[in-house]
Amino acid sequence: TVDRTAEQITLAERYAAHNYHPLPVVAAEAEGAWVTGVDGRRYLDCLAGYSALNFGHRHPAILAAAREQLDRLTLISRAFHHDQFGAFCAELAGLVAASNPNAGNDGTGSGASPDVMVLPMNTGAEAVETALKVARKWGYERKGVPDGQATIVVAAGNFHGRTITIVSFSDDPDARDHYGPYTPGFVTVPYGDAGAIADAIDDTTVAVLIEPVQGEAGVIVPPEGYLRDVRRTCTERGVLLLADEIQAGLGRTGTTFACDREGVVPDLYILGKALGGGVVPVSAVAGSPDVLGVVRPGQHGSTFGGNPLACAVGRAVVGLLADGSYQRRAADMGAVLTERLNSLLGKGLVGVRTAGLWAGVDVDPALGTGRDICAALAERGVLAKDTHGSTIRLAPPLVIEQPDLEWAVDQLAEVLRTR
Ligand code: PLP
Repeated sequence: TVDRTAEQITLAERYAAHNYHPLPVVAAEAEGAWVTGVDGRRYLDCLAGYSALNFGHRHPAILAAAREQLDRLTLISRAFHHDQFGAFCAELAGLVAASNPNAGNDGTGSGASPDVMVLPMNTGAEAVETALKVARKWGYERKGVPDGQATIVVAAGNFHGRTITIVSFSDDPDARDHYGPYTPGFVTVPYGDAGAIADAIDDTTVAVLIEPVQGEAGVIVPPEGYLRDVRRTCTERGVLLLADEIQAGLGRTGTTFACDREGVVPDLYILGKALGGGVVPVSAVAGSPDVLGVVRPGQHGSTFGGNPLACAVGRAVVGLLADGSYQRRAADMGAVLTERLNSLLGKGLVGVRTAGLWAGVDVDPALGTGRDICAALAERGVLAKDTHGSTIRLAPPLVIEQPDLEWAVDQLAEVLRTR
């Protein structure tokens, strides 16, 4: 009999660049929170595509929207309009506006606010690049920063993607080394310290870019009040606040956006991952026309950004978030996860940080690396991923059933107990 798992891994190792080091699981099918391998083994997905699968694998409403669109129109380019584009932008603008306690409503019944507009792209890194470009342009054209001098304040430990500009302000040597020369114009301050941001701002500063919860760094939740203080500082100093909600947003932390946890409205929301429903890459930047309005025809774009299939899927995702039930589920399941993980402190775990249904746990390094633990979890049928060193991130789909979630923590407890 052919070992289909080994066969596929051998092909990948021979023919694919080694820019990842996957665990030895070869997925063939999935539904909800469960994945089936080519060998027929079942796994509970506790990574959820780095939060791209917040609504689970193959959510029926998302698949229905995608199928319907596949049968009608998949691509036309932004050289023309199409019948999903305006609706997607309006509905996403409405979701964003609903998180702004001060936003008006345009009264058309569309739920959209005249105060929010959307610029769709594809991947997260593209959306981050878009926000950086918009912030620089805004700085020159609206704030009066001398051309070519704009600076943007970022946080240590950040992860915003893989482009040359983005890795230019990463402090992770793996992400950054030997990709220079680097893009200038970024100033790094410690994460979680609003005073450090205030001190770093000067006349050349156009924006502050932060993750409201740092994902790749290990689910680092900033101190209470941090986002509010950063918001106040940005407003007082005339600097844009760019919130990278690509991993933290769209329900994961128990609210639509992670900034909602402190009632904060950034100048630009940067969205991705779950916006594509686990089907296609969909990202977007959303914010006020005063800011996004600086981009005029021909000055930024993407062949696939805002394509009909992406917009149809994105509309289904926005629709799922409309009544708050997935957000509530993230909060409820997150409370269960937090309590169960905290009970493992001193029993193999030395740190637990959670935000909604999202956890970073630090394993006692004496028990092995994060990768060792994740390999053992996969053996037991749980998919999870280490971030750095001995830290593991748990981010199951928000549709996970409570007994399954508890079973996953039981598997982690067993792995830790038997090492
Ligand atoms: N920003 C954050 C906070 C992320 O977590 C990620 C991906 O992990 C990105 C940006 C980059 O997104 P993409 O991989 O789609 O380019």
